Amino acid sequence: MDFFFLFKKIFGSRNDRLLKKYYDLVNIINSFENQLIVLTDDELKSKTKEFRQQFEKGISLDDLLPEAFAVVREASKRVYNMRHFDVQLLGGIALHNGKIAEMRTGEGKTLTATLAVYLNAIPSKGVHVVTVNDYLARRDSEWMGKLYNFLGLSIGVVVANQTAEEKIAAYRSDITYGTNNEFGFDYLRDNMEFSLDNKRQRILNYAIVDEVDSILIDEARTPLIISGASSDSTVLYIEINRIIPLLRRMVSEPDREGNEPDGDFWVDEKTQQVYLSESGHENVEFYLKKHGLLKSNESLYDYNNVHLINHIMAALKAWNLFKRDHHYVIKNNEIVIVDEFTGRLMSGRRWSDGLHQAIEAKEGVAINAENHTMASITFQNYFRMYDKLSGMTGTADTEAYEFQEIYGLETLVIPTNKPLVRHDYNDHIYKTNKEKYEAILKDIVSCNDKGQPVLVGTTSIENSELLSDMLKKNNLKHNVLNAKQHEREADIIAEAGKPYSITIATNMAGRGTDILLGGNVDKHIDKILYSNNIDASSKDIIIEKLRKEWSSLNLDVKKSGGLHIIGTERHESRRIDNQLRGRSGRQGDPGSSRFYLSLDDSLMRIFAGEKLQQIMSHLKLPDGEPIKSSLVDRAIENAQRKVESRNFDIRKQLLEYDDVANEQRQIVYVQRNEILSRESFIDSISVIFKTVINNIAQSILIDISNKEQLLEFQYAIKNLLHVNLDLTNFFQNNIEDIDALLNLVADDLISFYSNRKDISGNLDWIEIERFIFLQSIDTNWRDHLSFLDSLRQGIHLRGYAQKNPKQEYKKEAFENFSVMLENIKKDIAKNLLLVDFNSNVHSAGEVDNVKHIGKIRRNDPCYCGSGKKFKHCHGFIK
Ligand code: ADP
Repeated sequence: MDFFFLFKKIFGSRNDRLLKKYYDLVNIINSFENQLIVLTDDELKSKTKEFRQQFEKGISLDDLLPEAFAVVREASKRVYNMRHFDVQLLGGIALHNGKIAEMRTGEGKTLTATLAVYLNAIPSKGVHVVTVNDYLARRDSEWMGKLYNFLGLSIGVVVANQTAEEKIAAYRSDITYGTNNEFGFDYLRDNMEFSLDNKRQRILNYAIVDEVDSILIDEARTPLIISGASSDSTVLYIEINRIIPLLRRMVSEPDREGNEPDGDFWVDEKTQQVYLSESGHENVEFYLKKHGLLKSNESLYDYNNVHLINHIMAALKAWNLFKRDHHYVIKNNEIVIVDEFTGRLMSGRRWSDGLHQAIEAKEGVAINAENHTMASITFQNYFRMYDKLSGMTGTADTEAYEFQEIYGLETLVIPTNKPLVRHDYNDHIYKTNKEKYEAILKDIVSCNDKGQPVLVGTTSIENSELLSDMLKKNNLKHNVLNAKQHEREADIIAEAGKPYSITIATNMAGRGTDILLGGNVDKHIDKILYSNNIDASSKDIIIEKLRKEWSSLNLDVKKSGGLHIIGTERHESRRIDNQLRGRSGRQGDPGSSRFYLSLDDSLMRIFAGEKLQQIMSHLKLPDGEPIKSSLVDRAIENAQRKVESRNFDIRKQLLEYDDVANEQRQIVYVQRNEILSRESFIDSISVIFKTVINNIAQSILIDISNKEQLLEFQYAIKNLLHVNLDLTNFFQNNIEDIDALLNLVADDLISFYSNRKDISGNLDWIEIERFIFLQSIDTNWRDHLSFLDSLRQGIHLRGYAQKNPKQEYKKEAFENFSVMLENIKKDIAKNLLLVDFNSNVHSAGEVDNVKHIGKIRRNDPCYCGSGKKFKHCHGFIK
């Protein structure tokens, strides 16, 4: 017995201790049941008001928890005829305590969440429930909305393409459902607004993230970006795309001495990088010149040609590392990213660094212009802003360390309501893909012969289709799901537990939907219940019949062994494998699972190859015979661990870089918010004029008796601020030092500015000034973001110069940020002095907006995502 086990046995694990504590609370919650049962519906509802009053008086949510949870449970009994299981109460307590509740599939996480949602809605500061897609946000909000409404709470949903008014109403509700993307984008949009009234979100109070691993881990690798189009290099992408097929891939990497085998480039699948060889560089240069992209006397390494290398690298990656129907699909003539972990289509998301355009060129679809970041944030940094954060999922434990490390979230494994009886068989490993798929087919056929339903999980659309073809050839009826149509797929998945059903799905198709053995009868019953064409007594008869039929189907499936899961490949992450397995064996149902692997699988090839080859050669197996060995199982698990930790490092690195931007973003957004609510700008304006004047003088004016210097200073002011000051009269005054002079100049500017205001008639100056402040901040912030983007892209090269890239990045980001702050002041001063008095602020602002936002035209959709045309939104001329 190892020491850890012994230790746990004596002291109990932290998980056990927490559960024990929570069980004590569960007993208290249960003790309220009898007194709540006797209340009328109205009396139960009035509890909400009571809790709110108690909270106002200073009673904490923790103290309100037992009775509040009991109220939710009682309401659920009345609304849905579902009584929260005790383990669901445990989950609810974990959520309220800002933890991740790991609860297996089918344990009822949706209902569990209601407990913590209700309790945390008491202070009326808003509760966000975060789901992975719009379909689930709508479905869960409608489903659970009945309960919240019963208890007198309001509920809203935020989804893409809503109007600003709809969004605002949804965020003012007690409870708001929505996707991670929509919450994150709304945050960014809010921080681009020019008026407090337009802000959608309130403070970020409390969020429960459903499928938390998917959102905070899988999706955390690509940040949310709001962007506007900038320069157009479509032609370049097309030209470069023509060059790539002319380059030859090397058979292997260079050896340790740096000797390169014949060829132009090599591909490192492990690190997802492509490298050019010596001859590769020469050939690229040759072809670039031949295609007229590089002048004959220029080198690829000239300063102004660096972008060409970036284009070449992006195109090489596009051709060699990104496969259609695996990494992306083409939908409506557009490249849509497929999330490699979940198989979901990530519509609207784009790869950065020109990769997306390179793939567009490769596939011959329309190339979208490069984008210019206007605002961006990682999910990590978005979700860390909530005062309290919690999450739930079926699979968190393998990633518990990351949740703790990055989000400070503790994972609590909640016991299942009924014991899990699913049988997870050992992996079967074949030498080739062909043998593997034949074995899978055999397994499917043998289940089908017994009427046992099968769910086959694949890691790519390509493999789904391959398998589907095999089944068709064998006349086996089946459904194929690709995580493309959430709603339809949820319906199919709901039926995947019927006898004889065969379902092939990429990882998370139809996610969030429970597979019930015998199929989902409730849906059919609902149809009958809500039908207008059937009278009440017939309804009862039909429903009774449906239930009976279902019971017999349910029994048949149970007898046949329950749902059988087949994995066609092991995923890089054990967590994703567990998700697939978790689809079977819900609420004590029988079930089984097996993964089929081959040495051709990429995980095996790349990460476990050598070791397995060694084992294989010892085992000398006949064709078609699987390897079953604990040695192999261990090698695979090790390979997965290796990849998991590498992926963790990648996410951590992304975060470390984003942390720098995050700190700066906070500073900028706090400033912005302060400006939005400010009632006067006079004081800041005079400080800004003074600082700007000081800065201008700094490098020019050393000796105030020097007329040359004074004239140069005067000229610099004209140049930078477009104001003609006559400094010659300062000679008449007896000015003692530079400071006194600069004060006089600044005062002069201030009175010049005040005069202009006086003669300009009745303009709303506060709003004009607010607009100019905000706009100057936004423009410079965007430029700074672009700077950070390019800094990050090139920073790893510093490693070669014996410098720490992260430190370098921090240093330069900080320096540029300081410059940006100075530029903001300069722009504010310049713009204030420049306002066109014959027009009004919004027309002046509009011109600038157009300039800075790139190619937004008056009829284009506004950059803020409101769905309105630019001219009706941020480009509105009053
Ligand atoms: P999960 O997300 O944990 O996989 P769901 O929230 O989709 O599970 O719920 C699975 C099913 O269990 C749903 O059909 C739900 O109605 C049912 N369910 C949940 N909690 C209860 C309960 N306490 N009593 C009866 N049925 C429940």
